[in-house]
Amino acid sequence: MNAEIVAVGSEMLTPQRVDTNSLYLTAELNNLGVEVVTKYVIGDHLVLLASAVRLALSRSEIVILSGGLGPTEDDLTRDAVAEALERKLIYHPEIAEALEQRFARLNRKMAEVNKRQAFIIDGAAILPNERGTAPGQWIEESGAVVVLLPGPPHELKAMFERQCLPRLSRIVPSEVIRTVELRVAGMGESDLDQLIAPVYKKYQNPATTILAAAGDIQIHLRARCGTESEAQALLAEVAGPIELLLGERIYSRTGETIEAVVGDLLRASSATVSVAESCTGGMLGERLTSTPGSSDYFVGGFITYSDEMKIEMLGVPPEVLAEHGAVSKETAEAMANGARRRTRSTYALSITGVAGPDGGTEAKPVGTAYIGLATPSGTEILKRQFLGDRARIRSFAAQFALDFLRRRLSTRG
Ligand code: ATP
Ligand code: MG
Repeated sequence: MNAEIVAVGSEMLTPQRVDTNSLYLTAELNNLGVEVVTKYVIGDHLVLLASAVRLALSRSEIVILSGGLGPTEDDLTRDAVAEALERKLIYHPEIAEALEQRFARLNRKMAEVNKRQAFIIDGAAILPNERGTAPGQWIEESGAVVVLLPGPPHELKAMFERQCLPRLSRIVPSEVIRTVELRVAGMGESDLDQLIAPVYKKYQNPATTILAAAGDIQIHLRARCGTESEAQALLAEVAGPIELLLGERIYSRTGETIEAVVGDLLRASSATVSVAESCTGGMLGERLTSTPGSSDYFVGGFITYSDEMKIEMLGVPPEVLAEHGAVSKETAEAMANGARRRTRSTYALSITGVAGPDGGTEAKPVGTAYIGLATPSGTEILKRQFLGDRARIRSFAAQFALDFLRRRLSTRG
């Protein structure tokens, strides 16, 4: 079964607001086995709202609107749905009375406009609002259902849970949606796709989505089946061969970030790590400490941007800088060794590179980076050439360093 969600409200079209209601509703609908196929964000505009409802109803069995149920002139959801369904709005004095009593309990007199909230679409079931004033509405229309929910997230959630879930579970055929999320580092998006497309292209179900960020790719497999075991079997059938093809490039199967995976590996081997960063300016330290409990393994780091700081804080020999430059294998090596020595950590990661847009040379163009890893058994340096703007090069470098340590830790496993 398919659903469409309409987020109503002109404020949702401003740069300050995000439609989070639809994310909540999507998660809940997916749990029931309902796929959300289209979402709309529409301002307080009667004609646009009514036409979206008509369009959604022509394609999907469930249409949910959030917001625009309040008392003011710009709250048009009731009118728009009534128009789309060609039904009347009927005034319910008992709703107005209950509202009046609610205001009286708070020692306030109800403003006349609140009576707008007492208009219910002909034939709709009234969904009581435990946390606010505007009631929701549930309307069945030739095999489909249209639901009107209030905009404030805490009102919407309470109403959806108490009033909509029981009703939906009666009309939705039992279907389960299950997903597998594989996270991959150290590979470009197109290379990855070329490798695994022959596996997933054969299947409509599960549906495969590939999301790529700098040096980090997520593969989402989504199966829709009649039963839990069918869904799991189908996911295994597709994920299995993909896992074989990608091997140790997969760092997580449960949605964990790479920094969390590295943290778990360090903790498991009672090891610690420190960082020495130049062009990433602290990004690596920030990522390693973004996981709760990172004090178990992260001891600290150095942001050494200038040559002087590399010499003073990390003990990089001045002649290494003079001879090879700050962006070099030798400097990366001395930085990692210095961080490890000075913090007495088990491992130390270093990053030095040209993030751009200026500062590139023919020998070391923008995007050149050296990543160092000092370990109890020696220091390894990798050179990489990253593509993109400054932000992307820096993200790539930090991601690559985390993956360098991850691979090292998992092969020692
Ligand atoms: P009210 O009686 O408060 O006017 P309403 O049903 O008319 O309720 P809106 O006026 O559309 O709802 O929204 C009220 C507030 O709820 C918004 O200012 C916003 O903070 C929040 N809200 C509305 N829609 C959403 C949404 N889709 N996602 C997240 N928050 C929302
Ligand atoms: Mg409103």
